Amino acid sequence: MNKKTVKDVDVSGKRVLVRVDFNVPIAQGAVADDRKIQAALPTLRYLLEHGASLILMSHLGRPQKGPDPRFAMDPVAERLSQLMGQPVRKLDDCVGPEVEKAARDLQPGQVILLENTRFHKEEKSNDPGFSKQLASLGEVFVNDAFGTVHRAHASTAGVTDTLRPAVAGLLLQKELESLDQALLHPVQPFVAIMGGAKISDKITLIENLLSRVSCLLIGGGMANTFLAAQGLDVGSSLMEAEVTDVAAELLARYRDQLVLPVDCRVGAEFQADTESKVVAVDEVPAGWRILDIGPETIERFAERLAPARTVFWNGPMGVFEFPRFAQGTVAIAQVLAGLEGATTIVGGGDSAAAVQQAGLADKMSHISTGGGASLELLERKKLPGVAALDPR
Ligand code: AMP
Repeated sequence: MNKKTVKDVDVSGKRVLVRVDFNVPIAQGAVADDRKIQAALPTLRYLLEHGASLILMSHLGRPQKGPDPRFAMDPVAERLSQLMGQPVRKLDDCVGPEVEKAARDLQPGQVILLENTRFHKEEKSNDPGFSKQLASLGEVFVNDAFGTVHRAHASTAGVTDTLRPAVAGLLLQKELESLDQALLHPVQPFVAIMGGAKISDKITLIENLLSRVSCLLIGGGMANTFLAAQGLDVGSSLMEAEVTDVAAELLARYRDQLVLPVDCRVGAEFQADTESKVVAVDEVPAGWRILDIGPETIERFAERLAPARTVFWNGPMGVFEFPRFAQGTVAIAQVLAGLEGATTIVGGGDSAAAVQQAGLADKMSHISTGGGASLELLERKKLPGVAALDPR
């Protein structure tokens, strides 16, 4: 790591502004999955043990037009307070005179959580005035939000224009160290598995990856576009006609490395309890949808994974939210869990949730808290939230 971390700065008696990734699912007014909050605890505890007071900030969801109670941070503050075993005061805004006063009045050991930074459009536009207001709240800036380091927003990058020292938190450090080593200098054979819904936003990554992996296994909705590019009829399956040409080109260029499903579980409707059956990929009935990979595909994927020394997995193999179509995703998690001597990296989002649900989280080398960020790192793109931190 060529960036300073919390261990390189003196935080005693200081107000520390921490960008955390508390973008967690909320259901019925409560946090439905607190893994991202848990992941930030080592940094928060470290800072408190070293005499700091904490001003925490994060975005939550995608509020479109200013403050929206559905995206308020109150449930997060409540869960964080339970996990930390101490009060966490949630403020009603993230900037302004009242927030400034609350920050000034903080005593060492105390924690406040600012309201959703995306309640101000200036967060995403990385507005210098807004960044300066956020920055004025603290004396040290810590970025521990790996999930948003690929975005140059006010709370991830802009604040560092006027607030130094600006250093990495322990989660960010762990993510970068694990992913840098495994993905930028992978021990071969390096096998990648991609799934999920959309291919169009990942096509450049796929192309970029193909030159570096021994093979790339493709499942989920994105496989349908490749199947269609081979001239197969995918019925009413999700697929993106506008990228079939690019998919066909990749198939021609990387015939041996691109591994596609040979069978699939199809459903009559896009519904959890729909009628379903396993068919070969060239036998999808008219009007039906491919919603998971089939058993023969699982076997073939497992064979290609067996010799791997490094594995990167991003995206579910099917609509795993419906138990009937979760078998492929769970099977891949099991195959990864059983690989001996391989570094297994799960790149955030749905695949991380699936691994967790299958109870296999402790069998993986690293489960990233950032899907998008890990993909951009894998693509060797510059991460603005990291670039903005103090060099070591
Ligand atoms: P992404 O956000 O691109 O990672 O996609 C994740 C979503 O892809 C999940 O919600 C899955 O339900 C969905 N998905 C995976 N496989 C399929 C499929 N065969 N058809 C439709 N959606 C799918």
